[in-house]
Amino acid sequence: MQQLPAHSVYQVQESKETADAVAYAFLSNTGEPVQYPYKYPNIADDDVRIRILFTGLCHSDCLHSRGLWNPNIKYPSCPGHEVVGEVEKVGTGVTKFKVGDKVGCNPQRWMCQTCEQCKKGDNQLCSQNIGLYDDNNFGGYSTHIQVAERMVFRIPEGFNDALGSPLLCAGVTVYAPLKRYYKPNYTCAVIGIGGLGHLAVQYAARLGMTVTAFTTSKNREQEIKRLGASNLSNSINLENLKAEQGKYDIVINTLYIEDEEVFKSHQRLTAPTGTYIQVGAPPSKVNFKLDHAYIILNQIRVAGSLIGNYDETQEMLEFSAQNNVYPIVETFDFEDFPKAFDRMEKAQAKFRCVVNVGKWAQANGLWK
Ligand SMILES: [Zn+2]
Ligand SMILES: [Zn+2]
Repeated sequence: MQQLPAHSVYQVQESKETADAVAYAFLSNTGEPVQYPYKYPNIADDDVRIRILFTGLCHSDCLHSRGLWNPNIKYPSCPGHEVVGEVEKVGTGVTKFKVGDKVGCNPQRWMCQTCEQCKKGDNQLCSQNIGLYDDNNFGGYSTHIQVAERMVFRIPEGFNDALGSPLLCAGVTVYAPLKRYYKPNYTCAVIGIGGLGHLAVQYAARLGMTVTAFTTSKNREQEIKRLGASNLSNSINLENLKAEQGKYDIVINTLYIEDEEVFKSHQRLTAPTGTYIQVGAPPSKVNFKLDHAYIILNQIRVAGSLIGNYDETQEMLEFSAQNNVYPIVETFDFEDFPKAFDRMEKAQAKFRCVVNVGKWAQANGLWK
């Protein structure tokens, strides 16, 4: 085994026998993640230690750990922010959870509960927000995670653990804005039927809206209709987009199309007084352009959205369990983490990658 570098918080171990947990960590901005056995510092009073059952892989993980967002991140780096697991240990001050409870984590590790945003309930915009992983903390590419109880979610009865972990990022990213702006009789356009879009179609339909899926994948018509879309429409053909102009009370765009005319045509799908939601981000340094005339003359509301707040995330988990909303996933064994990461990084997965962590961790004596 290669010599593993030290981490500032977690104590690296020579083997998994003495470890509390094993992560898959990146040692630099290139190469595969490697197994990294480690010990936790003592559990804080408000901490919950979670044994991870399933963990989802999200494209932001690769942007972070490859140093594409910030080239100065510290290694070893263990990303991952879509976690479903069960409580293994609790600090002395934990009141909401007990050992054995089914719980989850989303991309946020810490909210202060005292800043203006937190007081308004917008804790995802907390001024002291800490992400689930950063230079000091490992994320969900691990057999365990230790986080403060204020950012732990309860997994509801009947939730499908094996499919559901990606909902904690991808699911809430589309559920929260749809829920904020919808009415049941609305028409809804979902642009781009990938990791986010195939969930947006399901949520919009289950909320009672009539959904049109804008895509270039005509050959997936049956599958997309099974998710809940009433119609399919071409997402890049300008003539088609013109014919669809002004028809949708809510438009949720999971893509950013560089062609300015196509992108503005997406905005013009919004009906007068309707809401246009942009969740697909352009590459950093690119500013997208709005069709100001259309937006002003039709009183369009333009909305951004970042994951969801605590209550929206909890509600999304319950809504998903009740309405059977889950992503289409490819599942990998823990030992195949590098393979799963590679498929996610190359955007080859249909639609999200999930790793079964619990099976390996239990078999390897890491459930203590
Ligand atoms: Zn994510
Ligand atoms: Zn705050």
